[in-house]
Amino acid sequence: MARLGSWIESHPEGIYVRPADAWIDPTEPKPKAMITHGHSDHARGGHGAVLATAETLAIMEVRYGPQSGQPIAYGESLRVGEVEVSFVPAGHVLGSAQIVLEHKGEKVVVSGDYKRRPDPTCACFVPVPCDIFITEATFGLPVFRHPDTGSEIDRLLHRLHADPSRCVLVGAYALGKAQRIICELRERGHHDPIYFHGAIERLNQLYESFGIELGQLRHTGGATKQEMAGHIVIAPPGALNDRWSRRLPDPVTAMASGWMRIRQRARQRNVELPLVISDHADWDELTMTIRELEPTEVWITHGREEALKHWCMTRQIKACELNLVGYEDEND
Ligand SMILES: [Zn+2]
Ligand SMILES: [Zn+2]
Repeated sequence: MARLGSWIESHPEGIYVRPADAWIDPTEPKPKAMITHGHSDHARGGHGAVLATAETLAIMEVRYGPQSGQPIAYGESLRVGEVEVSFVPAGHVLGSAQIVLEHKGEKVVVSGDYKRRPDPTCACFVPVPCDIFITEATFGLPVFRHPDTGSEIDRLLHRLHADPSRCVLVGAYALGKAQRIICELRERGHHDPIYFHGAIERLNQLYESFGIELGQLRHTGGATKQEMAGHIVIAPPGALNDRWSRRLPDPVTAMASGWMRIRQRARQRNVELPLVISDHADWDELTMTIRELEPTEVWITHGREEALKHWCMTRQIKACELNLVGYEDEND
């Protein structure tokens, strides 16, 4: 009997599904690509045919222009070559999917990036029991345990209300995290206008076009310091310490990221208010997911693979690392 999953190959530039003649999240242009989600390290430009959710295709079109894309809905099943393919929600960002592959009686799930806690901007992760689970491990160390999101949002609001003469500038990844922070604030009853950096405008509009309500948003461009005092401003992490932020009224610098668990990372970016809010599974979510799916084998794609591999092996689950190159989840 052939080795489990022998029809799936790991290459530095991505996962190749031989009987489908297609790549998953390749980091180099390929004739046929299946894309888990729109983050730019997973969804690159320049592929031939692209199979992805409508949301992911729309994100790719904002970034790279028209795609020869085929949209696939969650739960829809499609034959690609000799492989039965379906996409199910991964709970990571709008349109993010796990890719489920079935061939010769074997079921393989490629998680892409995922998380298990609720996110008002995207569908919840759906567990699919499988033979091989190919998982990310961005926060694959027991030290990474993300706190409750609501309490982090409350800390943000508390800080905002503490000094109405200042604004709170929140650094958040432009795709996903920025819109999630806005929605989480709305869910906590914050309905004031939220200001945004121009770099997230198109993605805000894209989220709204898919029915995600973000409430009243204002561009920082046309606003005075006085108008922005007492308000929240959302910007990509790269803008936190650049000249642009001088237009803001004495900003309290915050950052929303799983990496804020590490004090040194917060200090490096001069972050006064670190908010541990992540779009990736933490250690407990990773291990809970593997327990739930009961795979025979776990393949670990990117992040901190060692501890998770060890965890699997002590539970008699075969585990290995795939050495894929080019995925960065540093901004989470
Ligand atoms: Zn991602
Ligand atoms: Zn990733």
